[in-house]
Amino acid sequence: HFEGEKVDDDLVSAVARIMAHADGARRLRVRANADTPDDVARARRFGAQGIGLCRTEHMFLGDRRELVERLVVAESEDDQAAALEALLPLQRQDFTEIFEAMDGLPVTIRLIDPPLHEFLPDLTDLSVKVALAEERGTVDEHDRVLLQHVRRLHEQNPMLGLRGVRLGIQIPGLFRMQARAILEAAADRTAAGMRPVPEIMIPLVASVRELEIVKADILAVAQEIEESRGVTLTYSVGTMIELPRAAFLANRIAAEAEFFSFGTNDLTQMAWGFSRDDVEASFFSRYFEHAIFDVSPFESLDQLGVGGMVEMGTKKGRKARPDLKVGVCGEHGGDPRSIHFFDKVGLDYVSCSPFRIPIARLEAGRSVLIARTNK
Ligand code: PEP
Ligand code: MG
Repeated sequence: HFEGEKVDDDLVSAVARIMAHADGARRLRVRANADTPDDVARARRFGAQGIGLCRTEHMFLGDRRELVERLVVAESEDDQAAALEALLPLQRQDFTEIFEAMDGLPVTIRLIDPPLHEFLPDLTDLSVKVALAEERGTVDEHDRVLLQHVRRLHEQNPMLGLRGVRLGIQIPGLFRMQARAILEAAADRTAAGMRPVPEIMIPLVASVRELEIVKADILAVAQEIEESRGVTLTYSVGTMIELPRAAFLANRIAAEAEFFSFGTNDLTQMAWGFSRDDVEASFFSRYFEHAIFDVSPFESLDQLGVGGMVEMGTKKGRKARPDLKVGVCGEHGGDPRSIHFFDKVGLDYVSCSPFRIPIARLEAGRSVLIARTNK
């Protein structure tokens, strides 16, 4: 209810009874996609049983954007190390706050997955700025050097470019810094008597080799922290499955991953070849007119195509690793029809935005009750 609104106690207790009924019936666990202290607190109020997706790229915006820019355009290893050193305590604090708020519930932290252009100045704007300054003879040396880097890093199609694990392989210190921040925050909270449960998730993996490279770095960081502090860390390392190739090779990928989380936003984009950022494009509406879609596949899971990959990826993954934990953290994790599908194919949890958690709990319960009635 909203502030100032009169609370109808009968309604509140009826809703509580319905939710308790759904929670008693459901098999799927419900987690939240949350990365700010506000969202995490909201997620808990709505009954989240963990965080299924903490998108860390959001933590690098605002004041910290400059540090990422410095990191990406660093001219030397020392420059890079200085930027990472400045980011480490900030990230450690971010994760400490989340572990405290989640109080022993699992927290899946996804290593940074930005399309790079979001952290760099726009190429055209910067080119014009430098050209005008050159004409006036007032060009700033920093801008001139930055322009060279922005030209070098410019991509025609950033969503298919230097994102996710690819960025981690390009700048290995970045993922190592995040792993350190997560695990040091977890070690501190453990020493303070809490039981944080970090799950470190690698984005945009297409090949098992990518996972092996990053995982080796994470394990080395963990080992160093354990040895230097004399603690035993509880954590796991897993991957997003959001590229068709990863779904097809799920058995091999599961050999290196303790959990999978299906990123159905990217998986839908890659499977249909529709840009997820252009679903407002006019041709898209033709698909509704011609009844090719009755609902956008970005809103409700395309159960045959993308769903087929989720089902296949889950089966293949569990064949290779029977105890593989499997969830979904794309927008479909909060969509009623999609939730019934995820329940049917045996996922362990769905993760959705905090406001969708009650609906997800309800639908996860309904899915079980409907299946029971239809038996
Ligand atoms: C996804 O692709 O479904 C996902 C959860 O990741 P993001 O939306 O951050 O790309
Ligand atoms: Mg994604």
